[in-house]
Amino acid sequence: MKLRQIRALLFGVFFLCLAVMVIGLITRLRYLILLGMVLACFLYLPLDRKLWRCPVCGEHLGRGRPEFCPHCGALLPDDC
Ligand SMILES: [Zn+2]
Repeated sequence: MKLRQIRALLFGVFFLCLAVMVIGLITRLRYLILLGMVLACFLYLPLDRKLWRCPVCGEHLGRGRPEFCPHCGALLPDDC
């Protein structure tokens, strides 16, 4: 899977978690807030840890949208 696709997947999962929590806040359904938190902990974070990695050295890329790998310095082009 390319980094661009992984970024889109992670953004989608993060948005889903956030949307569930916001809906829970608006409707005052506490279990929806809890469900959003559980989704964030058990879906978003493991996916981030497993997929958001440098294609060269395999280390985690950290936060944001790095141009270079913070560990090996490999260039991470936008289309990879
Ligand atoms: Zn690297």
